[in-house]
Amino acid sequence: MTQKVLITPRTFGTIDSKPIKLLRDQDYELIFNPHGRLLTEEELINLISDVVGVIVGLDPMTAKVLNSAKKLKIISKYGVGVDNIAVDCATQKKIMVTNTPGANSLAVAELTFGLILDVARQITFSDRRLRQNQWGKCYGFELNGKTLGLIGTGRIGREVAVRAKGFGMRIIGYDLKPDLEWARTVGVAYMSLDRLLSSADIISLHVPLAEGTYHLISSRELALMKRSAILINTARGGIVDEDALFQALHNKEIAGAGLDVYENEPSADSLLRSLDNVVLTSHIGSHTFESISRMGWMAAENLVAGLSGKRPPYLLNP
Ligand code: NAD
Repeated sequence: MTQKVLITPRTFGTIDSKPIKLLRDQDYELIFNPHGRLLTEEELINLISDVVGVIVGLDPMTAKVLNSAKKLKIISKYGVGVDNIAVDCATQKKIMVTNTPGANSLAVAELTFGLILDVARQITFSDRRLRQNQWGKCYGFELNGKTLGLIGTGRIGREVAVRAKGFGMRIIGYDLKPDLEWARTVGVAYMSLDRLLSSADIISLHVPLAEGTYHLISSRELALMKRSAILINTARGGIVDEDALFQALHNKEIAGAGLDVYENEPSADSLLRSLDNVVLTSHIGSHTFESISRMGWMAAENLVAGLSGKRPPYLLNP
């Protein structure tokens, strides 16, 4: 009998059709996301009962969904962060979970720099004013000589560091597992989270959302930041307490923020939208043609390997 594979990300196979061909060559019956947006838990439950594999984006692969997936053997994440997948539950059920590490690092690092430059120079704010026929000047700061604080120095954090060097910035870092060899080569000083928060002019988040990072940045941490500092979050919304961030921005306790991710997606908190010192994008970090191609190919390869009894290249729960 034909094996069914569910594909939820809308961009899968759109830039490069090779991943779809790879799946079709295995004779899987492919079920594409019928709603053209993130699926809800209920919609996933309705679609997943007889599929053996899922290629999933940010849709909620909760324990409830997994409990209704009686034939599921593999969840192939189209991306890096697996915070939307109940990995422990999948492991208990002997369902493989894979991801595509590195596929989107350049895309996210470049967006991070786009947000840094935008907030530092008020590019979007100036654009908004110009469209309202206001020619007023906006004043910003230069990156050269400023201190960038990287929270998380994994794949994306390191790509951000490379770009920061080109801008003449000093780089400091905080990570659960500091890589001293890398830090020495690139010229990054590791320090405690509190010291980083109080020393940096720009703070950029690149840790996964997990138990230890939920609301890692809340009122206490924001209060440690310089009043002139800006916060960039291209990691996950839940890492920042959005209410505390709104207060800090509204009261000008920090100078600005650039956000690609939010606590409740697909939406950005309406209070944040009312502020001029914030730049908001709609979780577009990995949305480059190159990254979509790489993620698609790696996700398809993981899935095919897993379903044909081989060890997938990027298995998270061996
Ligand atoms: P990575 O695994 O290469 O790096 C993560 C780093 O965080 C590691 O060095 C790890 O040691 C560190 N870390 C983990 N827990 C920590 C903690 N509690 N405190 C301090 N450091 C901790 O991952 P990556 O590829 O660099 O991606 C980072 C995150 O970016 C992903 O988990 C994902 O949530 C997010 N992301 C967002 C987008 C987007 O579209 N905006 C796209 C890709 C990834």
